[in-house]
Amino acid sequence: MAIVSSSIDRPDSNRSTSKSRVVDAELLPDDAITSREEGLRPKRLDEFVGQAPLKQVLGIAVKAAKGRREALDHLLLYGPPGLGKTTMALVLAEELGVKCRITSAPALERPRDIIGLLVNLKPRELLFVDEIHRLSSIAQELLYPAMEDLRLDLTVGKGSTARTRALELPPFTLVGATTRAGALSSPMRDRFGLTERLDFYNLPDLQAIVRRSAGILLLPLTNDGCLEIARRCRGTPRIANRLLRRVRDFATVRGELDEIDVLIVDEALTLHRVDHRGLDESDRRLMELLLSSYGGGPVGLETLAAALGEDPATLESLIEPFLLQIGFLKRTPRGRVVTDAGRAHLGRQARL
Ligand code: ADP
Repeated sequence: MAIVSSSIDRPDSNRSTSKSRVVDAELLPDDAITSREEGLRPKRLDEFVGQAPLKQVLGIAVKAAKGRREALDHLLLYGPPGLGKTTMALVLAEELGVKCRITSAPALERPRDIIGLLVNLKPRELLFVDEIHRLSSIAQELLYPAMEDLRLDLTVGKGSTARTRALELPPFTLVGATTRAGALSSPMRDRFGLTERLDFYNLPDLQAIVRRSAGILLLPLTNDGCLEIARRCRGTPRIANRLLRRVRDFATVRGELDEIDVLIVDEALTLHRVDHRGLDESDRRLMELLLSSYGGGPVGLETLAAALGEDPATLESLIEPFLLQIGFLKRTPRGRVVTDAGRAHLGRQARL
């Protein structure tokens, strides 16, 4: 059955990096969801690569809900951007044979935004709310009875004549996605029957994702070429697909479309200044600064941000997580420190 998602209405999150990075895990305008990303998105559970424990849990939940002709339990998906939260919501809708409406918390500021979505839901449909930790308290108050009792409490009239009217809703599934599960209010968290985490992907899974995408884009990418993209994409499918598109551009301009091997991939990604571990200029600038001006640290976030001319929040949410994850950087109570692995990557000696 063809499943249509409603228009994807996701304003940019509260980021402040002036320049977009090819290794940014967030959705960039270039990924233009309806055209480029959409074609590469897996449609069914068996096309969704990796995340085996998640697929197992959700596969069982879908079968059970379908068997009972009930709506799936409300589901909270959390994890870093670009790992497949939206994709999973669309896959679940496809598996259940229903539609998935997609929106994000910042688009639900006024009560009428969320009311409009809820009253238009059909039985057993999915409502995907991205960045759910950013929901206003008004929107949360409306969602609680809707999630728990399928009831929408509407206030009619104003002042002393105002009255509350309850509207019954069809059974539906709220799929909330967040990069910051800890920022979710606890009453909201408690209303999800299923809470699942998405992890960074391992190398074989990333290779499988790149191979699949190359197949869809009809690109003759060799196994080594595939592996090289997988190594440089920071464990993130969205970045893998974006790097693949940059490689395709490069190969097209070079007229190298018979076979795209590791040398072409390397040249293309070096041109975009993405190194063998997926670090880009922002990452290297941060590590170089720590090493050359502060002897490798510890340095406090604010000092580091000021020295780099970046906003501390940007540094913390967009640059540091990957460096921490691959063990090039460490957070200590006294500040950020470059590890020996980070030093070695930049060709420096380990700290004595
Ligand atoms: P999120 O919602 O977590 O930010 P998305 O679901 O939008 O991430 O995924 C970004 C892109 O990465 C998708 O368009 C899809 O092509 C690709 N992708 C994500 N997860 C997978 C996966 N498990 N298998 C294959 N491709 C994936």
